[in-house]
Amino acid sequence: MTSHPDRQSDPVPANLARATTNGDDRPAVLGERLGSPRTGVLVTGGGSGIGRDTALALAEVGRPVCVWDIDASGAEETAALCRERHGGVATWSVVDVADTSTVGRAVPDAEASLGSLGGFVHAAGVSGAMPIDLLEDDLWDTTLNINLRAGVMICRQLIEPFRRAGPGSAVVFISSIEGLFGSAFITAYCASKGGVLGVMRSIAQRFAAEGFRVNAVCPGAVDTPMLAPAFALPGFREQLEERTPLQRVSTPDEIARPIRFLLSDEASFITGAHLTIDGGLTAITAV
Ligand code: NAD
Repeated sequence: MTSHPDRQSDPVPANLARATTNGDDRPAVLGERLGSPRTGVLVTGGGSGIGRDTALALAEVGRPVCVWDIDASGAEETAALCRERHGGVATWSVVDVADTSTVGRAVPDAEASLGSLGGFVHAAGVSGAMPIDLLEDDLWDTTLNINLRAGVMICRQLIEPFRRAGPGSAVVFISSIEGLFGSAFITAYCASKGGVLGVMRSIAQRFAAEGFRVNAVCPGAVDTPMLAPAFALPGFREQLEERTPLQRVSTPDEIARPIRFLLSDEASFITGAHLTIDGGLTAITAV
């Protein structure tokens, strides 16, 4: 294997770091490039897991964040963590994203609380084990409404706020490797995550006419409360890690940072795309 000394010592190329140093040895590239545009970002499901780490990653580069969650204490804690660790504007609201009328009222509030709304991450989500032969209407409806319909209904509110926010506005949906492949035990979840990729491409085409970008990430297994019941099954985590080329599951921050990139001007020519973040799990054959 060829070694790469620059990368081992410093993730930021030396010439770039020199050109953009803050004066306190931190490369300003973080705030200046990944934090651009400097408009506010709405993060649903920001009270836990990937949504929380996404809000923190955005606050780290100076972007105002509005956290929505059905869980008040989680949302409040995330906003407080953003302010404590990184300063800046971090607001929160209790919003059930499955309730379309509430969402319709809450988007203008989010824009007002942030001063501008130029980014949206749909991280609110639920899963539930139920194979096709046992599938109940309620689980199907809940899963599809939260994971899929809510993201669409929020996007339909965004054109005017994004126009007001100006160039560089962007959306990131969270799909899953289950949106690319299938698992027998989570039929409704697979439908919702495959659907997310479909609507992402459709909305990307409409939003491109306005200069806005829309993308998705497809995480593999991430160590969040959502996967806690699966991780409690004997041997589940170990088997998964063994099958994964990087030999582990990801942290939520490892999903949040690529989301931050996709929201930033660093990704200015990326739209209608999905990024798989799974430690190589879906890149290999089972042979
Ligand atoms: P999590 O359970 O830690 O966070 C999900 C958050 O969504 C919670 O705070 C929850 O309260 C909130 N939420 C649920 N229903 C809501 C509603 N109706 N309105 C508002 N908020 C609601 O889970 P996570 O792992 O961080 O999941 C975030 C997203 O990532 C989900 O879409 C999930 O499907 C996706 N994902 C997770 C994994 C994983 O392995 N954890 C893998 C692939 C994709």
